[in-house]
Amino acid sequence: FTCDLIRNFSIIAHIDHGKSTLADRLLELTGTIKKKEIGKNEQVLDKLKVERERGITVKAQTASMIHTFGGKPHVLNLIDTPGHVDFAWEVSRSLAACQGALLLVDASQGVQAQTISVFHIAQERGLKIIPVLNKIDLPAAQPERIAAQMQSTFGTDPDDIICISAKTGKGVEEVLQAIIDRIPPPNGMTTAPLKAFLFDSLYDRYRGVISLVAVQDGILKKGDRIASCHTNKKYEVQEVGIMHPEEIPTNGLYPGQVGYVACNMKESSEAHIGDTLHRVGAAVDPMPGFKPAQAMVYAGIFPVDTSDFPKLEESIKRLALTDRSVTVQRESSTALGQGCRLGFLGTLHMDVFRQRLEDEHDANIIVTAPTVPYKLVYKNKDVYISNPTEFPDAIDVSSKVLEVQEPVVKASIIVPEDYFGDMMDLCFTHRAEDLEHRYLDAGTGTSARIMLNCVIPLSEIVTDFFDQLKSRSSGFASFDYEEAGYKASDLSKMVFLLNGKPVDALALIVHRSHEDSIGKEWVKKLVKVIPRQMFEVPIQAAVGKKIIARETLKAYRADVTAGLYGGHVERKMKVLERQKEGKARMKRMGSVNLPQEAFFDLMSSK
Ligand code: GDP
Ligand code: MG
Repeated sequence: FTCDLIRNFSIIAHIDHGKSTLADRLLELTGTIKKKEIGKNEQVLDKLKVERERGITVKAQTASMIHTFGGKPHVLNLIDTPGHVDFAWEVSRSLAACQGALLLVDASQGVQAQTISVFHIAQERGLKIIPVLNKIDLPAAQPERIAAQMQSTFGTDPDDIICISAKTGKGVEEVLQAIIDRIPPPNGMTTAPLKAFLFDSLYDRYRGVISLVAVQDGILKKGDRIASCHTNKKYEVQEVGIMHPEEIPTNGLYPGQVGYVACNMKESSEAHIGDTLHRVGAAVDPMPGFKPAQAMVYAGIFPVDTSDFPKLEESIKRLALTDRSVTVQRESSTALGQGCRLGFLGTLHMDVFRQRLEDEHDANIIVTAPTVPYKLVYKNKDVYISNPTEFPDAIDVSSKVLEVQEPVVKASIIVPEDYFGDMMDLCFTHRAEDLEHRYLDAGTGTSARIMLNCVIPLSEIVTDFFDQLKSRSSGFASFDYEEAGYKASDLSKMVFLLNGKPVDALALIVHRSHEDSIGKEWVKKLVKVIPRQMFEVPIQAAVGKKIIARETLKAYRADVTAGLYGGHVERKMKVLERQKEGKARMKRMGSVNLPQEAFFDLMSSK
């Protein structure tokens, strides 16, 4: 296939607007998959169980289709992108392998927060954008209104919009035709030195890492000796082929083609998304825009049964092999024993990993409160901290920390006008700044849509922000964000003391304005989950030397006199006396037994 017979494209959309459904229709129409292969709600491209359950695409997956236009077979490469804000960076990478994108919008929901973010990514990459309105079969569909929204938001010409129902298949032919007519073919040279863009990787238990590449120039063949521009590591190509949608080996990958390469990479971390592969001895300029994925949310993962650690660590490592954006380090805690500290792209990424760990590895685990990477600015250096225990007890002269900074994001929320006040309030209580808003449409008949933009600390988003956004807008608000650097902030370490002793695994980093509420909330939770001891246990939240909140866990009083007859007062007194001594002794020894189960309850209570 020469370049002019190839189209590389992607479908970009807000979650649930029908990306997977449209992908399935395209694969069916082109005969790539048979109709009956699809179960009721199981999309072919969403392979992971957790993705199916949550209805999201986590891992980008790609398929090549062959379709005949004007008597000539064409290759259409669909590059699937992940559908969540945590993976915005992966979206951007995958789009680098395309020349065009279908911008899919639900005709009943209209433009949503992620519609805007993915549009901007595609536009920055200079892609040809084909606007598509989906779900026009729904009674609630308002194609004219949404077309007007797209015109005012993106400058879309309403005549360019294709109206479809991915569910019934109506209009999908027209989409195929538009892909051929409107998206430019890739351009590359067969005779130029090999240059292949690595945009995704898969992990195969038997063959190791499989990279997905878009060949820019030259030919990639079995037996070739290739090298990575970024790691300089060398490999021999074992197999190349296309995803159809399963892997099908081919003789070679030519300019403009998209396919897979198996070349004995042992670990996913070797397959850098955005890397450029070239032939050994024929170096090329790497494609621009390479940036390693950066963890933005960290949490400790510990086994409920401490003797399970070796098994848990093995499971975590195996799972991390399939997802190169997770970082893994060992961590040990006095309270929880041996565990791992993992870094994720965002909270959804964390939830997905955790669920996969539980589903696929049958692991019973405790996940500590998530934390973002904080920056401590010293006179001559910056130190990034991903664990509250590393945070200085007090930020003062003795700590030599000049300033504490936290990551912030630019957030956008799209919501019907009726919920605007609630959303403003939500933003304010989560320390948002620079609030701005504008109308997306006038809302004829129904409530108008408002877009709200602000700058908000990432730490505010990793806790309850998303849940509150959904509940306070009755599910109507959509939300997306992009990283926006670091900002100075008034943060301190909060520790929790049981009987005067700090519990390391419970330390948190909190903003001054939240100290009281967080301190009170956590001691209340703690008093509920810690089993009673033989003596009274004070539970305190402290920042530096200051106690912020306190609850008291009542003593468990074993009725040691139950077996004694009423008359033996003297003996009864003696027994109670002895019990009191015992309690005092235990209290002096001071240790409160905090079982793993209590942690489990604590971390899973909302
Ligand atoms: P994705 O998150 O963008 O991949 O969205 P999905 O393809 O998973 O679709 C989300 C939901 O919308 C699913 O329940 C689909 O069955 C439904 N859906 C997708 N396209 C259409 C359509 O054209 N009409 C109707 N009525 N429902 C659709
Ligand atoms: Mg999907």
